[in-house]
Amino acid sequence: MTDPTLAVRARALSLPPTELPAYLYDLAALREHAAAVRQALPERIELYYAAKANPEPELLTALSPHVDGYEVSSGGELAHVAEAVPGRPLAFGGPGKTVDEIAAALELGVERFHVESEHELRMLAHVAPRYARQRRVGVLVRVNLPVSDGSLTGSALAMGGRPTPFGMDPARAEAVIGALADGTHPHLELLGIHAHLASGLAAGQLLSVARTVLNWATGLGVPLREVNVGGGMAVDYTDPQHRFDWAAYGTSLAELTAAHPELTLRIEPGRALTAYCGWYATEVLDVKHSHGEEFAVVRGGTHHLRTPATKGHDQPCSVLPVDDWPHPWPRPGATGDRLTVTGQLCTPKDVLARAVDAPGLRAGDRVAFSLAGAYAWNISHHDFLMHPRPGFHFLNP
Ligand SMILES: *Cc1c(COP(=O)(O)O)cnc(C)c1O
Repeated sequence: MTDPTLAVRARALSLPPTELPAYLYDLAALREHAAAVRQALPERIELYYAAKANPEPELLTALSPHVDGYEVSSGGELAHVAEAVPGRPLAFGGPGKTVDEIAAALELGVERFHVESEHELRMLAHVAPRYARQRRVGVLVRVNLPVSDGSLTGSALAMGGRPTPFGMDPARAEAVIGALADGTHPHLELLGIHAHLASGLAAGQLLSVARTVLNWATGLGVPLREVNVGGGMAVDYTDPQHRFDWAAYGTSLAELTAAHPELTLRIEPGRALTAYCGWYATEVLDVKHSHGEEFAVVRGGTHHLRTPATKGHDQPCSVLPVDDWPHPWPRPGATGDRLTVTGQLCTPKDVLARAVDAPGLRAGDRVAFSLAGAYAWNISHHDFLMHPRPGFHFLNP
């Protein structure tokens, strides 16, 4: 399933070397995956896409029929997403919102704010009447809850259950919720609770996080309309065929909220929606032997695809052999079965994948890295070493 799709394979092989590397997105694969995720979730669970995972307008548009809205975490994302998918519901989250960003969100008519601190709430309360005279502004209070049962151990990125700049401690959040419920801020409307406590969790772990959040929210004794339990659904880079169990997660979430029919439950995944639709395709430039090991150096590198360097994994990849060798000089090739695939950067950190099973790999062959649709190009340090930028292709539009 993470082998390149037919369209990706064809494009990766037909592009001339000078147009590689290239990000190849299969939008049909994205639509199919998003539809399956939506289908696995009970109707009453709302699905927002966390735009920071990959904000390419083509992806935002392809997702539109399958999601209920988008979560944005900066003024930049806000303006970008509002332009790419006009009129779709937006939730504005993220720490360190500036007064200008809040004003821009109010002017755009953003439906809901994920408030991260007391200071942010006061700022929003002050600015809201100026920009949203006709309506009350919806607020979800972001809480950083301790998750007691150890379900977060092993998660790659924990933003909750320990000291972090995200959200508010339970007691502070409770005080803010109390003030909102008492009408202290007449231009703000308490919608509910937001929590995004960790990323990279399996369905069972994420469910226990959701249970903790829901228990806390419903135990406050304050009428709430919405609970957003965040994203963080795992993508397994060591086992690319493996998928997050959306059906089990959705069914159990619905059971959790069965006692609260007034409550809208929302999730906001990023990675697990878009990771599978993107490939980073490139060409092997050289195959080298060094102190008993072999290295394939490809066009591009971690300045385009930082994911393996930042997460410390081997990016899954497929070799697309090219028989043609148009040059008069000999073609370098691997003599062993396994090699390390690196990029063109002058740093030992520029490793895309180790122990790649690619017997006989030759210069001129092509390699397509999968699971490159999320936190890939957009988290990379593009200008380091001044190599050209990759191409971008949106297939099966
Ligand atoms: C990053 C983020 C998400 C998405 O996380 P994934 O691990 O990509 O699913 C959702 N909500 C918030 C608040 C985030 O910061």
